[in-house]
Amino acid sequence: MKIAVIGTGYVGLVSGTCFAEFGHEVTCIDIDAEKIQRLRQGHVPIYEPGLQPMVEKNCAAGRLAFATEFDPHIGRADVIFIAVGTPASRRGDGYADLSYVYDAARTIAPRLRDYTVVVNKSTVPVGTARQVARIIAQENPQADFDVASNPEFLREGAAIADFMRPDRVVIGVDSARAEERLRAIYRPLYLIETPFVVTTIETAELIKYASNAFLATKISFINEMANLCEEVGADVHAVAKGMGLDGRIGRKFLHPGPGYGGSCFPKDTLALLRIAQEHGVACRIVEAVVEVNAAQKARMVRKIRAALGGSEAGKTIAVLGLAFKPETDDMREAPALTIIPALMEHGALVRAHDPQAMKEAAKHLPEVTYCQSPYEACEGAHGVVLLTEWNEYRALDLARIKSLLVQPVFVDLRNVYEPSQMKALGFHYECVGRPVTIR
Ligand code: NAD
Repeated sequence: MKIAVIGTGYVGLVSGTCFAEFGHEVTCIDIDAEKIQRLRQGHVPIYEPGLQPMVEKNCAAGRLAFATEFDPHIGRADVIFIAVGTPASRRGDGYADLSYVYDAARTIAPRLRDYTVVVNKSTVPVGTARQVARIIAQENPQADFDVASNPEFLREGAAIADFMRPDRVVIGVDSARAEERLRAIYRPLYLIETPFVVTTIETAELIKYASNAFLATKISFINEMANLCEEVGADVHAVAKGMGLDGRIGRKFLHPGPGYGGSCFPKDTLALLRIAQEHGVACRIVEAVVEVNAAQKARMVRKIRAALGGSEAGKTIAVLGLAFKPETDDMREAPALTIIPALMEHGALVRAHDPQAMKEAAKHLPEVTYCQSPYEACEGAHGVVLLTEWNEYRALDLARIKSLLVQPVFVDLRNVYEPSQMKALGFHYECVGRPVTIR
């Protein structure tokens, strides 16, 4: 199968590379010339474990190529995946910005030759695939094509494993021909008995938003339980375990923290609310999820302030971890982008470390001092805040950390350490939803 993937970001690059790994002939196209140039020189522009060797292997095998030009790749493709960004609109109204998707549709339309399936892999509001079909038909009335929806569920940091062994593949189609082509592309997964959900285009589009909103709901729910635990002296980890062992609930995504971030949950929950609003349907649970998440970040700022003795003014804070989660350099909507500016606004100085995201973070937080190790960040700080649970921070030399700090304040927003051990080491230790926390 000849495949063109439009948009070579986290999703496009991983999908394109994995399709090549399946044995297809793939061209990944992007309008970002620098990105394509780097990829052609063998440099993967994002941090994603396992991606670099897989890109190298498939390029060497002649199955994977990168291009800025759409010709001749679009005309030759059996299937075209649109994997461009769909960020929240700059207007701040929560709508998804679909301009990149529609631009891609306009660009490919005149280049279509034989029958082609145009697939939205980007997360898009219900109705977008139909709009893509209208655009293509308008621009090229002769085009022989179908549109389809194939939302992506990979997680950054585990993207290759998620793509190669997904929990399910969702395919939204309204023609047997399109379904057959998409099934043929994913045949290697079919062979490992991956469940396929083949449905209408609108349903497939909604499955993606519903899934992300539900996962965000689990996070906001356990964060509220954590806050309640702090007040009643209960342990949220035991609560989560006790709940999660119930097969109807499940243990995953019941880990308390500073609130969700990343390139998907924040924008997708807002976009779902706009879709519901446009159709006159109440989505009060998702509304609450969004509010609870914002409140959780604000609560974390208050927690840090309290741990520092009531004010952060004139104090230096060491922040460990900036990316929205470990194993990625993605800073989009990371809690760090809310929590650090809130502390700095009140006069704190911030020294930070992250194993992969400092270059990206510096674009958003230029006033922060970036350090080469967690220990360097702690030098002379009045307290340390663990914000992203990178493995590197799970076995810190705590005696060394303590000796570097001006005062032994440790705010662990990911509950990496044991409260009793931290207390025994002489730290003033704060975490989320476990008994040692201050009220
Ligand atoms: P990204 O910002 O990393 O990449 C998007 C790429 O598209 C960029 O490289 C950009 O230059 C390129 N692009 C934009 N317009 C283009 C055009 N007209 N032609 C060619 N290239 C163009 O985005 P991402 O994180 O990969 O997300 C892509 C989509 O996948 C979004 O809808 C997102 O919601 C969804 N998604 C993301 C994830 C994730 O973990 N990042 C997971 C599942 C789904």
